Amino acid sequence: MIAALMPNYNRADLAFERGEGAWLWTADGRRFLDFGAGIATSSLGHGHPGLTRAIAEQAARVMHVSNLYRVPQAEELARRLVEATFADSVFFCNSGAEANEGMVKMMRKTMSETGRGERYRFICFEGAFHGRTLAMLAATGNAKYLSGYGPECAGFDHVPFNNLNAVRAAITGETAGIIVEPIQGEGGIRPAQLQFLQGLRAACDEYGLLLGLDEIQCGMGRTGKLFAHQWAGITPDVMSVAKGIGGGFPLGAVLATEAVARHMLPGTHGTTFGGNPLACTAGNAVLDVMLAPGFLDSVARKGQRLWDELAAVVREFPDVFEEVRGAGLMLGLKCAVPAGDVNNALMAEGMLAVTAGENVLRLVPPLVITDEDITQGLEIIRRAARRCRPSAAKVAAQ
Ligand SMILES: *Cc1c(COP(=O)(O)O)cnc(C)c1O
Repeated sequence: MIAALMPNYNRADLAFERGEGAWLWTADGRRFLDFGAGIATSSLGHGHPGLTRAIAEQAARVMHVSNLYRVPQAEELARRLVEATFADSVFFCNSGAEANEGMVKMMRKTMSETGRGERYRFICFEGAFHGRTLAMLAATGNAKYLSGYGPECAGFDHVPFNNLNAVRAAITGETAGIIVEPIQGEGGIRPAQLQFLQGLRAACDEYGLLLGLDEIQCGMGRTGKLFAHQWAGITPDVMSVAKGIGGGFPLGAVLATEAVARHMLPGTHGTTFGGNPLACTAGNAVLDVMLAPGFLDSVARKGQRLWDELAAVVREFPDVFEEVRGAGLMLGLKCAVPAGDVNNALMAEGMLAVTAGENVLRLVPPLVITDEDITQGLEIIRRAARRCRPSAAKVAAQ
């Protein structure tokens, strides 16, 4: 008989009862160092006092009122995001895919409202991941995810990542904009070259296109700046955010310039839950931490340390790992053995990580991870690597 909980995930047989910082405990008392952060989402780790207190207090006061009324917590969070970024205006929703849907709608609306309604197509990239709604499956363009879901939503063209010539060649009179992750997450922690991002900005300016950034995974402090595009010194016209913005509470956002946002008049878009008092209280509590002086610098510093020490691990275990890639605390280890095997070995040694495309092991710990935790994490990675050495398998087989 089928499980009551639908079988659409491949779940590890672990159930966590509580967490603190970068650590999680199962009911039977086993402890795991969390280098996955619920897929780069638990940005402040587990049981963060400021975040949990804010949520508990707001939940007791009022959780939800709908967008029929003013929501001061949303006004405050939007104001702070505008102050901290390129954006002039913010729309709140509940997840990443929903943020991307909103971003695509805003880009199309802007074209339509400026007399360019025939421009409805988007240039997207091979290896991208934008979510699981019908339109975002098409934006993602992965045949495996699209299979069985009927006609593909029209309007998404794919070109190779980090190839500016391919982008320019794909621009037509129907192109509305470009949608890109500054660092591809699911695709295997593949960073866009900074010159590539700058080239995309220039191409958009030259052809009157909109640049839409999907910073759902690489944003919210993950790379050591609030948003990853800041490393390239460019700004988008519109940007989707989710995952880390709520520190584990479901929250997404679309940040836009005035030129885009001014077309989103009453009735053009909406959501029931989006931007409710509870979710925005969580968002504000996360920002309290991320915007505190020194926080983002500490992410960059810890990321650099982890990178340097992982590079040493790669040199030590060349038959297990090929290279380190990524930025800040969004790092990937390209594996020479199946990444799933390494991930299982890590789990057996007490660490949680996530696999990604191109046979990569994704290391995206909470941004509040301590140096002591990083030291322990590196020890666990070494122990797992010893288990995964092809020579170790041979010894075991004899
Ligand atoms: C996770 C992710 C999404 C989808 O977010 P959901 O909250 O799962 O809908 C979209 N884009 C990127 C880059 C992501 O990492």
